[in-house]
Amino acid sequence: MSKDTFPSVETLKGVGPKAAERLQRIQIYTVQDLLFHLPIRYQDRTRIRPVGALRTGEECVVIGTIIHSEVVFRKRRMLLVSVEDGTGRVQLRFFYFNKSQRENLSTGAKIRCFGEVRRSLKVPEMVHPEYEILHNDETTKVEDHLTPIYSTTEGLHQLSLRRLTSQALQWATENEGEKGAPVLDLLPTPPRIDGQNVSIVDALKFVHRPPPEADTEALSSGKHVMQRRLAFEELLAQQLSLSKLRLQMQRQDAVSIKTEGKLYKGLLDKLEFELTNAQTRVIKTLFSDLSNPYPMLRLLQGDVGSGKTLVAIAGCLQAIEAGYQAVMMAPTEILAEQHLRNFSKWLEPLGVRIAWLSGKLTASKANEMKALIASGTANAIIGTHALFQQGVEFKNLAFIVVDEQHRFGVHQRLALREKGIQDGMHPHQLIMTATPIPRTLAMTAYADLDYSVIDELPPGRKPISTIAIPMERRQDVVDRVANACRNGQQAYWVCTLVEESEVLQCQAAEDVYRELSQLLRGVNVGLVHGRMKGKEKDAVMQDFTNRKIDLLVATTVIEVGVDVPNASLMIIENAERLGLAQLHQLRGRVGRGTEESSCVLVFSPPLTDNAKTRIDTMRNTNDGFKIAQVDLEIRGPGEVLGTRQTGMLELRIANIMRDQDLIPLVQEYAKQILEEYPQNVDAVIQRWLGRSTEYGQV
Ligand code: ADP
Ligand code: MG
Repeated sequence: MSKDTFPSVETLKGVGPKAAERLQRIQIYTVQDLLFHLPIRYQDRTRIRPVGALRTGEECVVIGTIIHSEVVFRKRRMLLVSVEDGTGRVQLRFFYFNKSQRENLSTGAKIRCFGEVRRSLKVPEMVHPEYEILHNDETTKVEDHLTPIYSTTEGLHQLSLRRLTSQALQWATENEGEKGAPVLDLLPTPPRIDGQNVSIVDALKFVHRPPPEADTEALSSGKHVMQRRLAFEELLAQQLSLSKLRLQMQRQDAVSIKTEGKLYKGLLDKLEFELTNAQTRVIKTLFSDLSNPYPMLRLLQGDVGSGKTLVAIAGCLQAIEAGYQAVMMAPTEILAEQHLRNFSKWLEPLGVRIAWLSGKLTASKANEMKALIASGTANAIIGTHALFQQGVEFKNLAFIVVDEQHRFGVHQRLALREKGIQDGMHPHQLIMTATPIPRTLAMTAYADLDYSVIDELPPGRKPISTIAIPMERRQDVVDRVANACRNGQQAYWVCTLVEESEVLQCQAAEDVYRELSQLLRGVNVGLVHGRMKGKEKDAVMQDFTNRKIDLLVATTVIEVGVDVPNASLMIIENAERLGLAQLHQLRGRVGRGTEESSCVLVFSPPLTDNAKTRIDTMRNTNDGFKIAQVDLEIRGPGEVLGTRQTGMLELRIANIMRDQDLIPLVQEYAKQILEEYPQNVDAVIQRWLGRSTEYGQV
């Protein structure tokens, strides 16, 4: 590995065992690690600022003469020093100082200091600046480059890191292009970024030691071409690492599923509607994936209501016809129960035997189901993630569907992949999500997956009109619901609470349920929440589906997947408390039938800026992609994709949102390197992702 071919940090001046141990704590073992330990920001000590022109908040160097120095007792003891440079006066304030410092900082001394400018009353001041008493005529000495600030660890000072990175840069300069020296430039040609072909060594030199004339604004926003050159390579490393995972997977074995498609045709004959073109296209891809002798891992993204379930069902039928079992895993009980109803409706007539597992089955019922699964009597198995936690044995599982899984990172993907391996055969996997991921982001964060989109809704869907109403006009909303229900419409009333507590959320829903039952005579009101028994919930949902209930009061348990096409009015109380993804999901419960649907967001003013943006976005668009884009801007990709904990998107210098435009070039290079320079792949990955790539070794 390249790690060993670069000199160890212990070969550098000033690094003994103790320093080496500290460096290791921040993952620095070699000269290369030092080179890629990039500054997090810069200070400008390259010029001397006139005191008269200091701005609050800036960090800068000033030079002047001490005109006053005294120890005072305010709330505590402190040393105050006044410095004058001919343009104005700045005050230095020290809370900790010893005798010799006090003597040095005496009237008449010439001083250079560096610190952050604050305002105390009207005088600019610096608290505990770095300083140096000047003797003779050394006043003009300033730094010849911007000062890098590095992330560090206890006992390892900025100055030491600066000295070490200087030595590392020196090493890079001397060894660049030398025969036998480890190579820093791992790309076949330097990428062309912002019209420039920058070599990695030049980029490193610049970023560690920017010249005084460098564009500091670009630097502080991470948009300097030299930073972008490095960001490019970091994104490339990420892409290569995920591509490698994917290649590894393709070397694993899976059953190749090929059939005549009898069951699928049987399903199409029974459907009361035509599949959309997008559904047909994705199903075709899915069947082709399933026929491969290596495991499929495909992410299917389709907006709320786009008809992902049927795609999953088609895949299940294919596996079942070939004589294997298929599993559909849902994130909530309600959703699993709904899938059960759909599977029963569509698959039982085709002779498919269905088993069902959830955490809430009685022990004897669960055992009965497990027996059906283990013997292979059941071909289609539906459940919550209890499916994988209860030591369930499958007879011959070949296809796994994970529904509405919009929050999981690479570790969970890998873990799931390991489940259901039998005799070295890996199951095929389809992951479905309604979280619309901008394409560039998907290609980067999910480069180890194949990716399909259902970009078309079933015909006849009407856009949902959305309005926002402040809490003080809640009565108007109640009246509107009453009218709608009396005219034969069905509605949801969703209660939210700021507390994470499920108990409190359910209580709030119970209160609203009682209130609305009383207020709305002649309207059948139902209640569903997460603390009800599975059977009770199921009965309520069934009644709502069969129109025995007009108004369903619910907690956010109905957020994902619930499908009752006749419901056409959605009220969301305290909408300001919910994130965009959740609001979009909830609103997606209506607009599924042919009725005109609407959504009322009831909010409690005053709104924060973010809450206002969220509510405005909901009012202005039904487009899941637009909503996701705004969500990404507000929350950042780590939050949205749920990968923050996995570290996948914790990049050193790149920022997926800011650097999106680099991604097409990254992909081009990734392809080229994988094909033509495979020997460089690990070196690029190791340099940027270091130890965090070890998850790849499963
Ligand atoms: P989601 O992608 O949100 O999971 P579903 O699979 O639950 O969407 O489908 C939403 C609704 O649309 C369901 O009632 C389903 O039966 C219906 N549906 C699916 N495909 C079509 C189609 N091609 N034409 C008409 N209705 C469809
Ligand atoms: Mg769904």
